[in-house]
Amino acid sequence: MKCNEFEIILRYFQRNQKKDFNEIKGIGDDSALIKIPKHNILAISTDTLVENTHFFKNISPKDLAYKTVAVNLSDLAAMGADPKWTTLSITMPNSDIIWLEKFSNSFFNILNKYNVRLIGGDTNRGPLSITLSIYGLLEENTALLRSNANTGDLIYVTGNLGESAAGLFLIKNKFFIKNLNIQNYLIKKHLNPTPRVFEGIALRKIASAAIDISDGLLSDLGHILSSSQCGANINLNKIPISKILIDNFTHQNYLDWALNIGEDYELCFTIAKKNIEKLNLIKKNFSVNFTCIGRITPIEQGFNLFYNKKKIFFKKKGFDHFN
Ligand code: ADP
Ligand code: MG
Repeated sequence: MKCNEFEIILRYFQRNQKKDFNEIKGIGDDSALIKIPKHNILAISTDTLVENTHFFKNISPKDLAYKTVAVNLSDLAAMGADPKWTTLSITMPNSDIIWLEKFSNSFFNILNKYNVRLIGGDTNRGPLSITLSIYGLLEENTALLRSNANTGDLIYVTGNLGESAAGLFLIKNKFFIKNLNIQNYLIKKHLNPTPRVFEGIALRKIASAAIDISDGLLSDLGHILSSSQCGANINLNKIPISKILIDNFTHQNYLDWALNIGEDYELCFTIAKKNIEKLNLIKKNFSVNFTCIGRITPIEQGFNLFYNKKKIFFKKKGFDHFN
């Protein structure tokens, strides 16, 4: 069964969500209207997901909706912002109601989990592509910028790195490992990354700089270093790699995945030594690990990797759409 543009919006996207008193107008007029609370800053981020670039044709509508929201939330998390509102621009080849039902259910599931309200969007016909903008709040002067790292700060990452890339590798190569549970776990890590929203908010008052790992640790940390005009020493022995990767893949594979392939959507952040006590207190509120992997150095010292205490040479790859 098919339905028209207005039926799509009404049936699938105009849903009752928990009220928000800052929202003056949501879906249904020419634009949404939001009141920004006093002494707050609006954080705005947009991400587009395009078929064959960000997801494969056979991705389920459930996973696609989840990932669209998760990658956007991850950007706000990296600023320490509290996510509040979103707008959805969706282009699809036809109005398949089964697809729309599954997509929108999953979409509102994750939105509701993080208390985010859909306040508008656009609906078009064409090759499948989804653009989400997300809006969050933070108090003035508390945003976690890429440009605030300082010499002597410690460098941390949340969670484990490389599992999403392992999942992508399994999907792409139709390479299946014997243990079905492990295989499904890794594929799920790729399709359903957890945005570190609450961790980002908690880090807002104590970290100096942050970024989310979407393109690979070396590439993303590289952005902090260039924005902050700093160097870094990284101890590769400290990179958090799960036992699952160590037991099932080669050292070469998982290190490359952890360093050069992104989509883990973990946070990489820097923190002054004087704030480590505070970090240790915060850590207790989260089940995810926070691992120190190195420190910030003066820019003249460059970006160095050490393995078993020896300096190693590397080529920073990362993901670039035009390269
Ligand atoms: P306009 O023609 O003024 O762009 P539309 O007909 O595109 O208005 O949209 C009507 C209302 O529905 C607007 O409030 C718009 O924000 C909202 N809307 C359209 N598509 C979506 C969508 N996919 N998700 C949420 N809201 C949507
Ligand atoms: Mg429109």
